[in-house]
Amino acid sequence: MPGKRVRKAPFKACRNCHMLVPPEATRCPNCGSTDLTEDWKGVIIVIDPESSTLAKKLKIERPGRYAVLVS
Ligand SMILES: [Zn+2]
Repeated sequence: MPGKRVRKAPFKACRNCHMLVPPEATRCPNCGSTDLTEDWKGVIIVIDPESSTLAKKLKIERPGRYAVLVS
């Protein structure tokens, strides 16, 4: 599709809590960590952390968009 380009990493992920943040962000809005990386894989959208086993496994406590794997 002309004019529409898919970038490799439209988000950065927080190494501490896995939350996905905008590429221009320097600090995680969720946990306040500045340890952000573009090296992550998989997206999980958490709507209800209480009823998501993956959210529990990743220790996600708040609804949002997270990376499954962060290296
Ligand atoms: Zn964080």
